[in-house]
Amino acid sequence: MNASVTARGASCPYCTHWSIRVHSRYQRCLSDAAIGGADTLICLRVRKFYCGSPDCARTTFAEQVPGLTTAHARRTPLLRGMLERIALSLGGRPGERLTHRLAVAVSRMTLLRLIRALPIPEPGTVTALGVDDFAFRRGRDYGSVLVDMHTHRTVDLLPDRLNDTFAEWLRVHPGATVICRDRASGYAEGARRGAPDAIQVADRFHLLYNLTDAVDRVVRAHRKCLHDRPASEAVAQPAPAPAVVDGWRAELTRQRWAEVHALWDKGIGHTAICRALNLDDKTVRRYARATSADELLTQALRRGSALDAHTAYLAERWQQGCTNAATLTGDCASAATGAANASSVDCCRPGGTAPHHRPRHR
Ligand SMILES: [Zn+2]
Repeated sequence: MNASVTARGASCPYCTHWSIRVHSRYQRCLSDAAIGGADTLICLRVRKFYCGSPDCARTTFAEQVPGLTTAHARRTPLLRGMLERIALSLGGRPGERLTHRLAVAVSRMTLLRLIRALPIPEPGTVTALGVDDFAFRRGRDYGSVLVDMHTHRTVDLLPDRLNDTFAEWLRVHPGATVICRDRASGYAEGARRGAPDAIQVADRFHLLYNLTDAVDRVVRAHRKCLHDRPASEAVAQPAPAPAVVDGWRAELTRQRWAEVHALWDKGIGHTAICRALNLDDKTVRRYARATSADELLTQALRRGSALDAHTAYLAERWQQGCTNAATLTGDCASAATGAANASSVDCCRPGGTAPHHRPRHR
């Protein structure tokens, strides 16, 4: 449809000076919401005016029609608002499909551009603030996500997980009275400096996660005890006192634990720590997971070997001449289930009858 502006003049958008001196005319096309299921294009004839104010930096300006045009826009505010709501509700591809059905077809990239162009809403005052880290690139780059714990909405994203950045954000956005965080020292220090009056609490997720992790480590460390003793006896036994481990290996473990945690508390990622300390990724994760170096040393003491229960039997069989590892493994498994097989014992004795069990001499 064709349209033109009937007003006699227009106000300069820069200095609000009213002008009726027409510089030129041109036509601009605006897409609007569909009418009767058909797409709508408004061909609007508009004018350029001279700005008569001597203080204005602009010589000419184009007139705008309130509610219909904005500077450089090719869609009406009504259609733009509709597309923004579709983009926010459905995202790119599903939104694109819906716009085709509504006769306001745009591409998925247009919808994504509309979302990116939206102003970021101000978080307002957040009284209960949650903070945690997230990975831009797992193992390398981490940021921080801030959440309003009352509405469970994301408030802001920080480019890293350093306590300085978090403290600065809290200073710029005062009002937090409760800060929910993980149990790492980085956010604790940032919260203490940025919001010294706020109460710091460990959030439920991290408490349960840490509890699960701790229980898992304890059960793994005592797995042998659980297998060897009846359940009633195992429960009745008092926990053994942790042994003191000395030696250069123990010293190295303590030193490495301190180095890993010093870097970890600074917010440095796993991979960077691996490179800095020249350690394997699994080793760094094990050190980072341990709450103290003694925990690692105790685990090493209790770990033992799967062969411990069969040492005497294996020594006896070795003396008898059976040195075949596969046969000995089968014998140990049979002994463990109480179903030792006499034929398998005979076959590997010196002069045994099974030709495929050839003794291996070392
Ligand atoms: Zn002006």
